[in-house]
Amino acid sequence: MFESLSERLGSVFDRLTKQGALSEADVEAALREVRTALLEADVSLPVARDFIKKVTARATGQAVTKSVTPGQQVVKIVHDELIAVLAGEGAPDALKIDNPPATVLMVGLQGSGKTTTTAKLAKRLKEKNGKRVLLASLDTNRPAAMEQLAILAGQIGVDSLPIVKGESAVQIAKRAKQQASFGGYDVLFLDTAGRLHIDEVLMEEVQAVRDIAQPRETLLVVDGLTGQDAVNVAAEFNGKVGISGVVLTRMDGDGRGGAALSMRAVTGKPIRFVGLGEKMDALEVFDAERVAGRILGMGDIVALVEKARETFEAEQAERMAKRFQKGLFNMNDLKMQLEQMLKMGGMQSIMGMLPGMGAAAKAAEKAGFDDRMIKRQIALIQSMTKKERANPDLLAASRKRRIAAGAGVEVQELNRLLKQHQQMADMMKKMGKGGMMKQAIAQMM
Ligand code: GDP
Repeated sequence: MFESLSERLGSVFDRLTKQGALSEADVEAALREVRTALLEADVSLPVARDFIKKVTARATGQAVTKSVTPGQQVVKIVHDELIAVLAGEGAPDALKIDNPPATVLMVGLQGSGKTTTTAKLAKRLKEKNGKRVLLASLDTNRPAAMEQLAILAGQIGVDSLPIVKGESAVQIAKRAKQQASFGGYDVLFLDTAGRLHIDEVLMEEVQAVRDIAQPRETLLVVDGLTGQDAVNVAAEFNGKVGISGVVLTRMDGDGRGGAALSMRAVTGKPIRFVGLGEKMDALEVFDAERVAGRILGMGDIVALVEKARETFEAEQAERMAKRFQKGLFNMNDLKMQLEQMLKMGGMQSIMGMLPGMGAAAKAAEKAGFDDRMIKRQIALIQSMTKKERANPDLLAASRKRRIAAGAGVEVQELNRLLKQHQQMADMMKKMGKGGMMKQAIAQMM
């Protein structure tokens, strides 16, 4: 999967990383090529645009790290953004199958690989998780499809619900639920009927089954080779039935891969598994990091940049520690500390990490001391001149008005920040004299 996209990006980045110095125009040109490559891979236009916008913003706001080239840094940024677009937040990889019997509803168009995927998942749960699985086909229109599921069940050694002619999909679903409870099964897969394209009757039937079955998971199976169509189908099913995730099949083919890259951004639903062939073992958990790695094929550079960044941050911390030891603490130092706080996940998460700080975190939140405030404080410091940052005593009333207006906040907020800075600077002086500073900072970092 992703071969052609991978090749295209590879040649763009090969050129970029070989150049020592890069102008903004070089980066822009490279990113234009990345955009074209994404579009050629059938990534939807808004997703490609948004992707490039985010990469550009990060590439321009980037602190220069020693020992890696700007091109290598761009590779790392693209890599991280690929992971973000593929995974979104907290994509769950395992199926939710606690409280047995848990029902997994399989939906999708005919020919997408739904029945095959149902059997693959069942095999996986049986072999990897030791689960007892029951399969039931609800495809009353196509007796052959029901037979096919029964045959696959036999092949992988799991049970399938006996076929009773003349039942409706809802009736089969009810019988399957009962059988799963009485039979002590852990997981019940309901393989719903597909159609060649989305139609109302199909959707209504799936909705009725869903209401009876109360599934823990509703997985949509879509053919990865169909590119943006796959994404449209997913959006449609999600709107009408509500899905908990997507399985992309035929990713073993020479598809352009765009469906994988647009899915999460367009539907808001994660890809959970990918099908990589007809065999029962040809299924993989979708791992955004690994997929991003495969697309870029530049693992060495990514690791190099990560290492360089760690070294850079360690040096920065060391420099700061030296300043604090001398009792020095100006607005630039404060800004760096605030940025560090944001990077660590903001106020709430820092306080959450400290034992017994839960209540304090709530109180701080109440007092309006949250990440937005940290960002406003950083904006205030950014609208100061170099001299003012080095020496806040310069800040007379007119300068204060200018700075507050520049950051779009009230002067009172600036006064609060200055007071906070003063307190911290005093503390640094005291601690600096005592020589305890280095230890304290080592802990803070
Ligand atoms: P359904 O109509 O959605 O139930 O589709 P089927 O499960 O019957 O699959 C249709 C065809 O696609 C079968 O020949 C499968 O073997 C094949 N198929 C399913 N998943 C994959 C996959 O990930 N890769 C490949 N190459 N073929 C697949």
